[in-house]
Amino acid sequence: MHAWTSPDLPDLPGMGDPVHLHDTLAGALAPTRRGGEPATLYVCGITPYDATHLGHANTYVGFDLLVRAWRDAGREVRYVQNVTDIDDPLLERAAQTGQDWHELAQSQIELYRSDMAALRVLAPTRLIGAVEAIPLVVDAVEQMLAVGHAYRVDLPAGAGAGGAEPELGDVYADVTDDSLFGTGAGLEPAEMLTVFAENGGDPDRPGKHNPLDPLLWRRTRPGEPDWDGGILGRGRPGWHIECACIAMEHLTGVVEVQGGGRDLVFPHHEMSESHLRVLTEQHAPVMLHVHGGMVGYHGEKMSKSRGNLVLVSELLAQGVDPMAVRLVLLGHHYRDDWEYTDADLTEATARLGRWRSAMHQGRGPQAETLLTRVRAAMADDLDAPAAVRAVDEWVDAALGGRAGGPGTSPDAPEQARRTVDALLGVAV
Ligand code: ZN
Repeated sequence: MHAWTSPDLPDLPGMGDPVHLHDTLAGALAPTRRGGEPATLYVCGITPYDATHLGHANTYVGFDLLVRAWRDAGREVRYVQNVTDIDDPLLERAAQTGQDWHELAQSQIELYRSDMAALRVLAPTRLIGAVEAIPLVVDAVEQMLAVGHAYRVDLPAGAGAGGAEPELGDVYADVTDDSLFGTGAGLEPAEMLTVFAENGGDPDRPGKHNPLDPLLWRRTRPGEPDWDGGILGRGRPGWHIECACIAMEHLTGVVEVQGGGRDLVFPHHEMSESHLRVLTEQHAPVMLHVHGGMVGYHGEKMSKSRGNLVLVSELLAQGVDPMAVRLVLLGHHYRDDWEYTDADLTEATARLGRWRSAMHQGRGPQAETLLTRVRAAMADDLDAPAAVRAVDEWVDAALGGRAGGPGTSPDAPEQARRTVDALLGVAV
């Protein structure tokens, strides 16, 4: 599917520093690769309903900072993001609201695109829907069945499951075929079971070899959409295999960074990486595991089930400047959990106004140090709050009467403007 139009990325003098990121698996800061090979980034995208709340925006703006830092460091970036445009939660939402699931998905994907464009997020190289990835999933699941890494589970009897071929069951991956399964999230087996069950897993389904085995292919169910699955029979893909197949097809070789919100660490990322290991026979198909924090509102994590969503599109409809929304997000480190308050927005709007005033003056304090500081902050695990502080200090100096004195230049406001545009994605 098409993504959205990326904003222009201004050129900056010199080059950014090699980027270091906090790897969830290692629990420590780790370098990304230098120069040479293209950077490969896979970020799990939305399931298209309730798009785009501030939690989503926090994740995608966070990874946008990575793309910007990599490109500033001279790296070509291949960035793939999926859209889970068929899955249980989407069908459940459509059923609750009486909408057609496909229309719901399409409208929410369009909203997501316009929100991302408004927030000046650089578009991924490829935005791939689960539905369009079905042929990839079918091939992969057939391959896993052929070599015994996957198996069929009988369908519930008498409920019309399986359509004309009820004897072809659902297909599950056998996690015991991957000796590294379960090592990613740092959870005890009992915790894994609990988290799996809370996140779409079905540990108690009869016929599974292991409670944690994830669904690869779900056969036709009455009232659910289905697609041609070749020898699998008609059905639809599981969630984890969807991401594994899209990454494998569109990011050949190793995935340098697999990213998403922290709620995806387990089971989603553990399971998709396990599928990647099995399918590619690579010991470490993912180099770095990078996860954003959770955004809360009114005391709880922002989520549709709690109904405490702050939607980007609603803020914009109220007349909020999208750059102020972006500055709200940049005020927090991407890995931190934080709680959104109206005061955040008030503060970010005031900050944006100060930045604009300072960067549209005729002269300003030299901005070379500002560029160096912002680059250093971004290279250090995308430390946006540190970068924002550096910009604030330049702005304070520019507005504090030092705009026209010694050491100032008529080019400096433009240099500062290009710095915050290219590295922070803030257009002033
Ligand atoms: Zn994913």
